[in-house]
This record gives sequence, C-alpha cells and structure tokens, in this order.
Amino acid sequence: MVHIRISDLEEYARVFHVPIMLKDGIEFLLEYIKNNNIKNILEIGTAIGYSSIRMAQVNNDIKVTTIERDSNMYNEAIKNIKAFNLDNRINVIYSDALDVELNDKYDLIFIDAAKSQYIKFFEKFKHNLNDNGVIITDNLSFHGLVKDSTNCSRNTKQLVKKIQNYIDFLKNNEEFDTEFISIGDGISITRKKSSFI
Ligand code: SAH
Ligand code: MG
Repeated sequence: MVHIRISDLEEYARVFHVPIMLKDGIEFLLEYIKNNNIKNILEIGTAIGYSSIRMAQVNNDIKVTTIERDSNMYNEAIKNIKAFNLDNRINVIYSDALDVELNDKYDLIFIDAAKSQYIKFFEKFKHNLNDNGVIITDNLSFHGLVKDSTNCSRNTKQLVKKIQNYIDFLKNNEEFDTEFISIGDGISITRKKSSFI
C-alpha cells in the first residue's frame, strides 16, 4: 500500500516548482463544485494530478477527464491518481489538448494550461460545455504581472499580452458572460448567456 497525502503533493509541487493551484484558488474551486452540484469535469492541464484529485474528492460521483502533454507530468499524475485510488474516476489523456477531440458534455471545463493558448482552448472546448455549465480559467493575474509588467522580459511581456487578449476576448464575448475574481492567481468564471440556452 502506498500511503500518500494531499500535503505530499503540495510539497512535491513546491520542491519541483510545479505550478499547481494556489491554496485559496483551489478552495474556491472546490466550494464552487460542491455548491453547484458539478459532476462531470474536463480539465486542461493535469500536471501531477493535484487539482484533479482534489476535485474528484469533493464527491464520490464526480468524474474528471484531464489532459496533459508533458510525459513526466503525465506519468507522475497517473502514479498519484492510482495512489489515491481514483483511477476509476479520473481519466488522464496524454496529448496536447489542441489535438484532442471529445464528444462528451461537461458541467465544468477548467482551463489551467499554456497561457498563450487560452483563447484556442476556449474556442475548441466550448462545444463540450453543458448549457448551464461553466468554464473556469486560472492564472489570469499571472502573479500580478497582468496589472504591471514594466520590469519584465520581452517574453514575459508577450505572455502578459496574450492573457490580456484572453481577458478582452471574454469581456467582449457575445455568447458568454464572465465574472473575474481576484483569488489565487486570478480566476474567471464564464457561463453561456441565458439567451443562448
Ligand atoms: N491543474 C494543475 C496544474 C497544471 S500546470 C493543478 O492545479 O494541479 C499546467 C500544465 O499544463 C503543465 O503540466 C503543462 O505541461 C500542461 N500543458 C500546457 N499546455 C498544454 C496543452 N496545450 N495541452 C496539454 N497540456 C498542456
Ligand atoms: Mg494554474
């Protein structure tokens, strides 16, 4: 028997600099899942499986599909999910999310992968959202850099610009309404406009 605790995953992420969700961000996400009776979740960006394990633990009838393109992360996630006995409810797909075709519908789509591709993830997977479902996106403040990136490298500035583009894309979206919440590293909650339901 492998005994593993959530705090072991948090420690691993800290030591190996894996960008798992921040404490208040994940707590907000778990509360949201509980309060909105969310059952079927799609996650873009598994890393070591931390957030998918936490989400699956909210309730025994929750199912998570999660996508990861990095082989080391994928292997680590598979190992962790087995150790938590959640391999029957968490399905990890080893692929670039932009190459994955899914037919199922989800109550929650959680976008937590390459920030430069947020609009592409959104456009690709919005068809997999239930009418009353929600798309939650992480890291919209990017450690505060979206507010002020004056002292950053060119690369970082470019990434900040991509995040700002995503924020503007959500703000101006005809089909979806978005709330922006400054918890964790900045989270957005996006739902279909009621006239589209
Ligand atoms: N959701 C995790 C953290 C994910 S970190 C948690 O909170 O526990 C982001 C992960 O997304 C990284 O492991 C990275 O390899 C993966 N990723 C980035 N772009 C991706 C893409 N296009 N397709 C699949 N995975 C991607
Ligand atoms: Mg994140």
